[in-house]
Amino acid sequence: MDRGINTRCIHLEEDEGKCLNYGALSFPIFQTATYEHPEVGRSSGFDYTRLQNPTREQLEKIIASIEGGIDAFALSSGMAAITLLMELFKPGDHIIVEADLYGGTTRLFDNVSKKNNYEFSYINCSEDDIEKEIKDNTKAIFIETPTNPMMNVSDIGKIAKIAKAHNLIFIVDNTFLSPYFQNPLELGADVVIHSGTKFIGGHNDTLAGFIVTNNESIKEQLRFLIKTTGSGLAPIDCWLILRGVKTLGVRMEKSQDNAIKIANWLKNQKHVTKVFYPGLPEHPGYELIKKQARGFGSMLTFYVDNKENALAVLANVRLIKYAESLGGTETLITYPVTQTHADVPEEVRLKNGITNETLRLSVGIEDIDDLINELDRVFSLLDEK
Ligand SMILES: *Cc1c(COP(=O)(O)O)cnc(C)c1O
Repeated sequence: MDRGINTRCIHLEEDEGKCLNYGALSFPIFQTATYEHPEVGRSSGFDYTRLQNPTREQLEKIIASIEGGIDAFALSSGMAAITLLMELFKPGDHIIVEADLYGGTTRLFDNVSKKNNYEFSYINCSEDDIEKEIKDNTKAIFIETPTNPMMNVSDIGKIAKIAKAHNLIFIVDNTFLSPYFQNPLELGADVVIHSGTKFIGGHNDTLAGFIVTNNESIKEQLRFLIKTTGSGLAPIDCWLILRGVKTLGVRMEKSQDNAIKIANWLKNQKHVTKVFYPGLPEHPGYELIKKQARGFGSMLTFYVDNKENALAVLANVRLIKYAESLGGTETLITYPVTQTHADVPEEVRLKNGITNETLRLSVGIEDIDDLINELDRVFSLLDEK
C-alpha cells in the first residue's frame, strides 16, 4: 500500500535500511559544480551539476512521489519551470490558456513566448467551451485551479478527457492547493507545474519551481532541456526546499483552518462586499473542489466597498504583511491590481473581476485570534474615517 503523503514528504522509501550519507537524517548539501571520474568511461552517476546533483535528485524524487509523477524537475523558480516547459513547443503552435492566471505567466506568454510565434487563446476554463477553441495547430491546454486571484475552479478530469481526445498536452499549475490537497496527474493531467517558492517551500525564504510529469516522452525531453538550458535549482536551495516540504501537510491543514475562519469573518464585515473562497458552500466551485481535491487551501480574495478602503487596509496592516507571494507561514495581503497582476491589460483584468477594490490574502499559520484581532483593528479604522 502506498504510504500517506505526510510520510512521503519526509522519507524516500527506496533509501530505507541503507544508512546513506553516514546516516545523516538531514540530506547533505552537495555543494559541488563537478565530480571526479574513477576512470575513463566510468562515472559516479553524476558528472556536472547543471545536469544533476545529489541534493537536487533527492528533492526531485520527493516531489515526484508526493505529486504522483514518474519524474520531477527542480528549477530555479516557478517562472523558470514554465519557461522551460514552453521549450516543448515550436513556432506556430497554439495553446489554450486559462484567462485568470498568475500575472507572471501571462507576462511570459505575451511578451516572451509570443515572439517565438506561439499563439495563445485565453478563456475562462471553468465556464467556457474549451473544445470550441481547439484548432489544427493546438498543442496544449494550460490551467490553474483554483485560479489566481479569483479562485475559479475548473474540472480537471473533464478537461483531461478533452485533451486526450485531441492529443493535447494538459498542464496544470497546482501551486495554490499544493500536492497535499490536489494531484492533477491522477485526474488525467500530463504535466503539473509548481512555484515551489509558495506552499512546498513554505517559509518565504527560497525561490524554486517544479515540473512533474507521468509522460515518458515529456520526461525525456525535459531532462535534455534542463541539461541544455541550465536552470536547475542550486544545491543549497534544494536543501531549503527539502526542509520546508517536510511540514507541508501540517502547514496546509493549519493555514486552511485559519482561512475558513477568516473567510467567514470577512463575510460579516460591512465594508466587505464579496468573499471568494472555494471552501464557502456558496462558492460556485465548492462541490467540484470537494470532488477533485482533498481541501480548499488557504488563499482567499475579497472585495471591499471602495478603492480608498482597499488602500487603507494595505496601509494599516502590521502583523499581516503587505507583500506579494503566498503559501508561507506568514499571512500576506496583496493588491493584485498593482502587484501580481500589474502586467495584465486593464480590460482583461476587469473582465476577470480583478477590480481596484480587490484584495488577496494568503493565510499563514499564526494563531487565528491574532489574525482576527489584526483584521478587526484594521477594519475598525475604516469606520473612523
Ligand atoms: C508565484 C507563482 C508562479 C511563479 O513562481 P515563482 O517561483 O515566483 O517564479 C507561478 N504560478 C503561480 C500560481 C504562482 O503563484
